[in-house]
Order: sequence, then C-alpha cells, then structure tokens
Amino acid sequence: MAAGPEPWVNPLRDPRDKRLPRVAGPCVLVLFGVTGDLAKRKLLPAIYDLANRGLLPPGFSLVGFARRDWEDQDFAQLTHDAVKEHARTPFREEVWKQLREGMVFVPGEFNDDGAFDALAMALAEIDETRGTGGNYAFYLSVPPKFFPLVVQQLKRTKLADAPEGSWRRVVIEKPFGHDLESARELNAITNAVFPESSVFRIDHYLGKETVQNILALRFANTMWEPLWNRQFVDHVQITMAEDIGIGGRAGYYDGIGAARDVIQNHLLQLLALVAMEDPVSFDAESLRREKEKVLRAVKLPDDLELGTARGQYVAGWQGGVKVKGYKEEDAIPADSRTDTYAAMKLEVANRRWAGVPFYLRAGKRLGRRVTEVALIFQRAPHLPFSETQTEILGQNALVIRVQPDEGVTVRFGSKVPGTAMEVRDVLMDFAYGESFIESSPEAYERLLLDVLIGDPPLFPHQREVELSWEILDPIERHWAEHGAPEDYPAGSWGPPSADELMARDGRAWRRL
Ligand code: NAP
Repeated sequence: MAAGPEPWVNPLRDPRDKRLPRVAGPCVLVLFGVTGDLAKRKLLPAIYDLANRGLLPPGFSLVGFARRDWEDQDFAQLTHDAVKEHARTPFREEVWKQLREGMVFVPGEFNDDGAFDALAMALAEIDETRGTGGNYAFYLSVPPKFFPLVVQQLKRTKLADAPEGSWRRVVIEKPFGHDLESARELNAITNAVFPESSVFRIDHYLGKETVQNILALRFANTMWEPLWNRQFVDHVQITMAEDIGIGGRAGYYDGIGAARDVIQNHLLQLLALVAMEDPVSFDAESLRREKEKVLRAVKLPDDLELGTARGQYVAGWQGGVKVKGYKEEDAIPADSRTDTYAAMKLEVANRRWAGVPFYLRAGKRLGRRVTEVALIFQRAPHLPFSETQTEILGQNALVIRVQPDEGVTVRFGSKVPGTAMEVRDVLMDFAYGESFIESSPEAYERLLLDVLIGDPPLFPHQREVELSWEILDPIERHWAEHGAPEDYPAGSWGPPSADELMARDGRAWRRL
C-alpha cells in the first residue's frame, strides 16, 4: 500500500473527547448505493455523526453514486433526511453546512462506462478544489451480485490505482459469498484489482463497543484468565436472537437463512474473540492470526443431525401481536426450506478448550432481541452444605451482553439472609449506561473512521472469511440433503430439536 499523507490534526475536534481520538486525513468517500436501506439508516447518519464530532477533515467530500436522474441537491436532501431521522448526535446547522459543501452526486448504472468516467472526472475536480489529495474510499453498499462489476469499473477507470503518496481503499459489506467457493471467487475478483491491505470487509459486529470489550475484559484484567479454559469452563453459549421477521428482505434472505446470514460472520467472530489466545499486540496482523488459529481449530459434531438444529418460524404471537409465518411473508415461496433459526454445537480442539462445547444459536421471530456470550462455569466439586438447606445451585456464569442493555453480568451463589445456610444464585452487573457518561458510537461510525484512517484490525481478513465458510459448508450441505427445517411458532425460542440438542448433553439454553 502506498504511504498515506502525514497524520492530520483536526482543529474542530474537542480535545477533551477521548472516545474516538483519531481523526481522518483529507479524503473522499464514494458511496455506491446511496439510495439503499443501509446507506440511509446507517452510513449517511454515521458520516454526519463523525463530522459532528470533528473527526472528519474540513475538505472531506462525499460522493453519492446511484441510478437516479439527480443533481447534487437531491443527494443532499436524501442525506439531510437520513441524518435527521437516524443520526445519533444532535443536528447542528454549521456541521451540516460544512458537510454539504463537499457533497457531489454522480448519476449512473454500474454497467455504464460513461458514468464511471464521469465519476473519475468528478473526483479529480474534488482533489483540485478541496485538497483531498487523491485519497479515495469506495464503499460498495450494493447488492453483492454487483461487486465484480463495480470493482471492474474501478479498475478500468484506474480509480483503483493509488498514485504515489495517496491511497485507494474498497469497502465491501457482507455477505462475503454464500459458500467457500463463491467467497474465494469474490476474493479473487477483488484482489485482482485491490491489494488485500486495501480491502476492508465490514462485519459490523466488530465495530460494536461490547464486542471490542471482550478483548478489554480478557486482556486488560488478570482475574478471568486463570478461569478461561477447559479446567473451569463447562460450556459457552453464543446467542443472537432477533424478535423481527425478515421484513422487506425476502429477496436477500430466502435461500440464505440464519446460519449463512449471521453465524458465518457475527457469531463465529464472537467465538474467535472469546476463544483466542492473547495477541502480541492489537495490530491487524496479530489479532487476525490469533482469530484464524481458533477458526482453524473448530471441530464439527461427529453427527451433524444430532449436533445441529434448524427451524423456520410459523405464525404465532409476539408482544401481544399476531404475526405471520415465514412462508406467508411477501415473496417467500410456499415450499421454502430456508432456516430462520440455526443452532450448532462446535468444539475448539486445542489445549485450552478441548472438550468444551461452544453452542451457537441465531434466529428470527424469537422471544426477544438479544445478543450475548455466556461462559458457564463448572459446578463446585463439593458443596459442604446440607442438601435440605441448600437449593440446587446453578453454575457460575459470566455473560457479556452485546445488545441491548450492553454490559457484563456475573452470576454466583450467595447466602440467603437468615439463620439457615441457604445459598442461591445472584447477579452482579456492569452496565455501560451506568458506568460511562458518553454514549457509545454506532458500529458504523467506528468502522467508517477506521476505513478513512486505514486502520484494519476490526475488519476480517479473507482467510477468516474462508475458514468460517469451511466450518459452515458441511452443515449447510447436510441440511440441504436431510429435509426441511422444523417449525417453531413466532415468539418462541426455536424448534424442539434445538432444546433436544442441549438436553442430550445434560444442558439447557439460557432463558433470556
Ligand atoms: P438495497 O436497499 O437493495 O440498496 C442497493 C443500492 O444499490 C440502491 O441504492 C440501488 O439503487 C443500488 N443499485 C442496485 N442496482 C444498481 C445498478 N444496476 N446500478 C446502480 N445502482 C444500483 O441494499 P442494502 O440493504 O442497502 O444493502 C447494501 C449492501 O449492504 C448489500 O451488500 C447488503 O448485503 C449489505 N448489508 C445490508 C444490511 C442492511 O441492514 N440493509 C445489513 C448488512 C449488510 P436503486 O435505488 O436505484 O435501486
């Protein structure tokens, strides 16, 4: 990668603001797919929030590319509306005005060479007028089938080639393929145009404060490390439960399902962060190397039918409202076999974790929206209390709440006040909202800033993507060959086979 310009200090930034103390240097962000859902809900608001916090340079420019017969002001209006509706920080006219000055719209289809030539000319002009120095980040917020075409256009127009002293980066959104083979193809296409160091793959979970806190919890403290292994941990549960259905995402979701949609990326990344050894430092190479070692050590259950579960929601009640089943959702075929719930038992076959099951589950239309990682510890080997006086003690647990109610809970046995020696489980809680005054930046704020700064640790490397598909592919193949997913009512906690999977091991899913 060509060396970037000297680090630049933004005079607008409040020096007391310690939350994201890094500032992007002069650059242009080119956003393909500006009219899309992700751009409107997450990306445009995040750009404004960064600007509002003084983390973007004054010359920062935002180029929108879409197939609309629009002028710059139409793009500005779309951004303005998105910011007003979704931004995290308050709307300030002076910040908006400054951002607005750097907004340019280029109309066009992805297969239109003329549109990309116009984009190249627009960028050259922005460099002239706003001093952005030829530093461009290309964000592909577009349906995955267009990735190859857009990347090819960037190659043809030489926009992918960074002149000496400047940089060019490409940002791609999940899904990174739908299996190992397609992930490799996508990588080959991208790497034929951009060097790997210039490819930023977004797994927005890694941008979440609570996910990064797994690293802080593990490696900034001494008290957990002695327990963080097979000697003390009975098993680990990683859950991503959503209460929503598929909404308007039928076209994307059907044929993909829960496992490909979130286990391949978010949940396996969480597993890697929980199970990895401490990296030499938090630079991208060290962090990725440790995560890769974990993913490589993941072992599938011997019997995939017994060690996994898959389900599809049928009509049911959720929050007092009757909701339809998956097959009744708009544009879903009546014979769809897509999993809207997936669970699996994995093992990390290494010295630290051998024999400790990692249970992963993810699903839509479950009882509640919650993502958490729970380490469940082994029971005390001996309880010196008489059975009659002691309730059956649960197991100690450390629960990292990723969302919502971000924080950490420790569960342990405590004496019940009274004259008898009765022990019962209690909870000790850390909540972000109570311990810190600052609200956490949105994941996309952090990740967009990292792209503009060129800081890669929070972006999965292609090797991690491929290793994750190597874990998932045999499971998906097994499911494809062994019948339809089991029904579960919307608002429940998934299909009976998922509970049976745990019961066979003498365990149960956490009740959330
Ligand atoms: P979307 O709502 O379907 O938006 C796609 C965008 O691409 C629209 O702006 C669309 O423009 C544009 N587009 C499509 N075909 C085009 C063409 N031939 N030429 C020019 N522009 C074209 O998709 P999205 O939900 O924003 O998702 C974008 C990416 O993020 C996808 O890779 C998706 O998998 C990923 N992602 C999204 C979410 C999410 O929450 N939405 C979450 C995770 C990952 P028109 O308005 O003209 O159609």
